Amino acid sequence: MAEPKIPRDLLPADPRFGSGPSRIRRDVVASLAEPGSVMGTSHRQPPVRHVVAAIREELRELYDLPAGYEVALGNGGATLFWDMATVCLVEKRAATGVYGEFTRKFSSALQRAPFLADPAVFHAEPGKLRLPQAVSGVDTYAWAHNETSTGVVAPIRRPDDTDDDSLVLIDATSAAGGIAADVSTTDAYYFSPQKNLSSDGGLWLAILSPAAIERSNKMTSSARWVPQMLDLSLAVTNSRADQTLNTPALATLIMLEAQCRWLLDQGGMAWAALRTASTSGTLYRWAEDNPLTTPFVTDPALRSPVVVTIDIDESVDAAQLCARARANGILDIEPYRKLGRNQIRVATFSSIEPSDVEALSACLDWLLEHHD
Ligand SMILES: *Cc1c(COP(=O)(O)O)cnc(C)c1O
Repeated sequence: MAEPKIPRDLLPADPRFGSGPSRIRRDVVASLAEPGSVMGTSHRQPPVRHVVAAIREELRELYDLPAGYEVALGNGGATLFWDMATVCLVEKRAATGVYGEFTRKFSSALQRAPFLADPAVFHAEPGKLRLPQAVSGVDTYAWAHNETSTGVVAPIRRPDDTDDDSLVLIDATSAAGGIAADVSTTDAYYFSPQKNLSSDGGLWLAILSPAAIERSNKMTSSARWVPQMLDLSLAVTNSRADQTLNTPALATLIMLEAQCRWLLDQGGMAWAALRTASTSGTLYRWAEDNPLTTPFVTDPALRSPVVVTIDIDESVDAAQLCARARANGILDIEPYRKLGRNQIRVATFSSIEPSDVEALSACLDWLLEHHD
């Protein structure tokens, strides 16, 4: 059977709504092929090192880094940073907030480490939030600013009554570049660049406090064996020289630099936060008004401004809805696979134009009216 064809004038100008890898602005992709692009040149030479330096400087500006905070980066993405933090930042025991797949993954990595006590886990059902609370003997607290699998946003602050030297590690993979954060309340605010920062995958970046760097120096010089790829102190040394331990993905660096510069030109994190709040607000209102849809996150205060999850009424098969959207060129509104709900998930990252989100809601209305 032919898929229903959405009228052309309803379609979004850019049909990419994925929560990661996410929309990369077209002129940024095109810039990789321009004469003068540093693609295909040595990452040890000034042209590429200038790109790394610019990224570090632009992130410093975007997040208004407090004195002593530094931007470090390396290969492997946020997933590698979880292992790095397990080896180099947690001394004896961590406490974690677990409220979706990404927060669960880091907690499991900590759980598997034979040299750490099992983490104290503060668990909430998908769509809800629970932050770790002070536990005696815990030296590290970890949660995600934005749980990408469920579309729940979390506050960033030090838990009350923790030991003075405990660290706060925040997974900001889908938040960085789209939700404002006071990084002075964190010790590692880390992320991959293929979500709000509209670049490609493969790298991790971390905004580190002096306390985090000190902890890492202590752990890497302790009896614990630290593989070079997981050595955060070595990564900091390389980052200070605007380099990475081994060869980075140059395209990822170039596109990340372009996105950071673009965000600063638009008005920085204040601009980005207003924009994502507004585009996500459009979709949440649409979901509340349409009788066949409801925002999955019931508490409005927990609704993510950058990843919108919407439950679809049981009379409509969401998988078929996504397939029909896809047949019309609208990409990546499928829900997070392991959540297993009759749902759609739409990124409203900084690069997503508000007009495209309005067009998407019109297309969804049209598809819902034409479902069988
Ligand atoms: C996507 C994502 C990750 C994993 O990032 P990789 O670059 O694939 O390692 C981790 N945490 C959150 C919150 C994410 O959204």
